Amino acid sequence: MAQQPITLIGGGLVGALLAQQLAQRGFAVEVFEKRPDPRLAGFLGGRSINLALAERGLQALRTAGLADDVLQRAVMMRGRMVHDRDGNSGLQRYGVDDSEVIWSVSRGALNMLLLDAAEAVGVRFHFGQSLVGADFGRQRIRLADEAGVERELDAGVLVGADGAGSAVRAAMNAHAPLGERIESLGHGYKELEIPPAGELPAAVLQLSGGHDQFALEPHALHIWPRGGYMCIALPNTEGSFTVTLFLPAQGAAPSFASLPDATAAAAFFREQFPGLLPLIPDFSKDFDSHPVGTLSTLYLDRWHLDGRALLLGDAAHAIVPFHGQGMNCGFEDTVVLANLLAEAPDDSAEVFAEFQRVRQPNADAIAAMALENYVEMRDSVADPHYLAKRELGALLAARIPTHYMARYRLVTFTHVPYAYALERGRAQDQLLEQLLRDAANVADIDIEAAAQLFQSKLEPLPRLRHG
Ligand code: FAD
Repeated sequence: MAQQPITLIGGGLVGALLAQQLAQRGFAVEVFEKRPDPRLAGFLGGRSINLALAERGLQALRTAGLADDVLQRAVMMRGRMVHDRDGNSGLQRYGVDDSEVIWSVSRGALNMLLLDAAEAVGVRFHFGQSLVGADFGRQRIRLADEAGVERELDAGVLVGADGAGSAVRAAMNAHAPLGERIESLGHGYKELEIPPAGELPAAVLQLSGGHDQFALEPHALHIWPRGGYMCIALPNTEGSFTVTLFLPAQGAAPSFASLPDATAAAAFFREQFPGLLPLIPDFSKDFDSHPVGTLSTLYLDRWHLDGRALLLGDAAHAIVPFHGQGMNCGFEDTVVLANLLAEAPDDSAEVFAEFQRVRQPNADAIAAMALENYVEMRDSVADPHYLAKRELGALLAARIPTHYMARYRLVTFTHVPYAYALERGRAQDQLLEQLLRDAANVADIDIEAAAQLFQSKLEPLPRLRHG
């Protein structure tokens, strides 16, 4: 193929995977990445930050031929381990069995693997190069190196995979407004670390329920739901866990504003997360030195500037992290875009319009579900009505798998469009609510009659996986 070269800004998770997929399909791809090469420089100062990989992201990695390599470096998570204030915990499985699990992967290790894979198929990376401006009239971009020295380059087709604070988006928006709306959640997050079990006193480990080198059960995503806020923890292969505290940014206690330093935060943890605090020996150092991250949802009317520039991944549709789907959604983007471009390599305007047409309703749907999931994670997982609905759902899933699948499973373990999962989830939820309204508890519900209700009101589920 001898189409226009593609200039990609951002060699993060989505940019590196897209570059690999485009090069595999014969495109010449140059990537400009703001940070130094993490394979040489060490990723983000060596902190272990992880994220959950689910079926959609895995499917994209399978398409790229990388799924097995990634899974070798991942820890399986079967469900949510919910911890109450009294130190009790229980596992809520995500799926029906170990074919429906999610995977904790290191962001840094995954990024480095994707960079290697892209380079292996001919992608050229330029590290320490920030996009600082673009002239779409002349199809030129302006880049600054780490010393701030600027230069101009021809860009050909420009693709922005430069994340939530995208400079490509800012340049496109300055050229022709994109209809940008950024809705802040009003909650922030801070990462803390539970070290491998070998670094903790035996007395602490006796109470925590871990095994081998892990201080907690390794094959779970841990949640300490506390109503308006929560902590979660995901395992890392070497035995540590990355803990994330989600809390309102401002306002009456508790909020990040009401916890100005580690001393105040430790007192708050002693009260609200008493079982967790002893597992974080560097609590004060972590709390004082790690920044508070902000959480927002990004909506745009337009993702592209005719055939000259396109946004994808977080640059187009950053979402809050409570469904663990931001990267998964961005990875899905890469396959759709690479396939569309391969079909019509000389018509980027048509391809970009079609990409937005296909992906935007789905990005909007996962944005909405991610916001809803915050309430579910921090609050509902410990709520009796939610648990009754879950129990009834599980009975129906076993009885009529053709007509009922929990929305979480549709999002996490299948490839049905996110927009379909949202709509189907609403319809199913209405029926579950109707059944629970008329019964004191789940045992009083006639499952045969409930199954018939679902079969009469809902279409059968579509084919749930493909490829
Ligand atoms: P980024 O990962 O932000 O990468 C953008 C890249 O562009 C970076 O390398 C950056 O250095 C580079 N860049 C930026 N500006 C420029 C510039 N001007 N010039 C050149 N390069 C530039 N998703 C999941 O699927 N599962 C999870 O469990 C999950 N957990 C999360 C937890 C938290 C706390 C947060 C905040 C997010 C989480 N996400 C999760 C979302 C996920 O992190 C993002 O969706 C994903 O990183 C998006 O990838 P990206 O490549 O689009 O953007």
